[in-house]
Amino acid sequence: MKNDSWIRQRIKDLGPKIIEMRRYLHQHPEPGFQEYNTAKFVSEKLAGLGVEMKTGIAKTGVAAILRGANPGKMVALRADMDALTITEKTGLPFASVNSGVMHACGHDAHTSALLGAAMVLSELRQELAGSVKFIFQPAEEGPGGAKPMIEEGVLDGVDAIIGAHVWQDYPVGKVAVRYGAAMACLDSIDISIIGKGCHGAAPHQGVDAIAVASQVVAALQTIASREINPVKPVVVTVGTITGGYAYNIIADEVAMKGTVRALDPDLRQSMPERIERVIRGVTSGMRADYTFSYHFGYPPTINNDEITAAVEKTLTRVFGAERMLRMPDPSMGGEDMAYFLEKIPGTYFFVGSSNPEKGITSPGHKSTFDIDEEAITIMTEAMVCSAIDFLRV
Ligand code: MN
Repeated sequence: MKNDSWIRQRIKDLGPKIIEMRRYLHQHPEPGFQEYNTAKFVSEKLAGLGVEMKTGIAKTGVAAILRGANPGKMVALRADMDALTITEKTGLPFASVNSGVMHACGHDAHTSALLGAAMVLSELRQELAGSVKFIFQPAEEGPGGAKPMIEEGVLDGVDAIIGAHVWQDYPVGKVAVRYGAAMACLDSIDISIIGKGCHGAAPHQGVDAIAVASQVVAALQTIASREINPVKPVVVTVGTITGGYAYNIIADEVAMKGTVRALDPDLRQSMPERIERVIRGVTSGMRADYTFSYHFGYPPTINNDEITAAVEKTLTRVFGAERMLRMPDPSMGGEDMAYFLEKIPGTYFFVGSSNPEKGITSPGHKSTFDIDEEAITIMTEAMVCSAIDFLRV
C-alpha cells in the first residue's frame, strides 16, 4: 500500500511540473466564462491520465472521473479557473500577457494544484475504492460557474466535495479548516428614491430625493445594529449613490446600489423584507416613492461537520498538528463553492500562501497579489490525501 510518504515524495517529484503549470496559467489568465485556453490546457493535461472527461460544461467547465480499481463512493475535488479584470503589477517574469486580466485570486494555483492531484491519484488507481471526480469550474468571480455546472449534472453520483483556496491571512505551511459557515452570501440590492424636483431655494415645492435617500442609508444600518440578534453577522452596505443635477436644484431621483452579506441561510432569506420595510417606512414618512429589487447571489458557504472533521483528521496526520488551524471567524466574502455545498456534504478549506520574509503579503484582488508557490503543492497533497481517506472510509 502506497502511504503518505510515497505521496509526499511523488508530489515533490512532480513539484516543478505543477509550478510550471501554475506559471503558464498565471501568464495566460482569462476572465469568467472565457476560460477557453485554460479549459483546453486543463483537458490536455487530464487526457493522458485515463480519466472519463467532459468539456464544455457550463460553457468552459471541465470535469473528469478517475475510476478506482475497486467499487466505492465518489468524491469530487473542485478548483476554479477564472481570473480578474485587473492589470497586473507584480513584475513577475511570468506576469500576465493578457492585458487587463490577472490571476489576482490564486485560481491559477487552484487549477494547477488540482491537476497535480489528478496526476498523483491516477497513479494510485489500483488502491482506490471508488472514484474521484475532478471539477474545474469557470467564473467563480462572477457571474458564477458552479450553479450551471450543477444544473448540467456535474454532481450526479457524487457523495462529497472538497475544495480549497489559497489564503494570504496565513503564512505558507499552515492549513486552516472551518466548521459551519465559512463564507457569507453575496446578494445585491438596487434602490431608487423617487421625489419631486424643484428649485433649490424652494424645497417646500418638491420632495428632495437626496434628503430622503440620506435617511434611508442611515436607517438601513439599524437592521444590523437594532433589529437582528447581534451574534448573527449581517452586513448591509450601500456602495453607490447617484442623483442630482446642480447646486440649486432639488433632485427628483436618487439611485443606490449595495451588497448584503449574511452567514445564516434563514436570516438571509429574511433580508429582502427587512430592507424593503425600512425603505417603505422612511420614504412614505417623507412623501417620497421608491423602487427596490433584491438579487440573490451566491448563498453562504457552509461546511459539513462530518466531512470537515474527516479532512481535518487527514491533514493533521499528513502535516502535523502544529501546521493546522481552525479558522476562528468566517469570511464575509462570498464564494460559489457554496452551491456545491448546498447540494452535497463537503468542506472548503484554506491553504496559507503568504510569506512575509519573501515580501509576499499582498491580499487577493490586488494588482500586486502573489503567493508563495509552495502553497500549491501543499494544496495538491491535501487534496490527494483527503480524497484517498474519504474513499477508504
Ligand atoms: Mn477566489
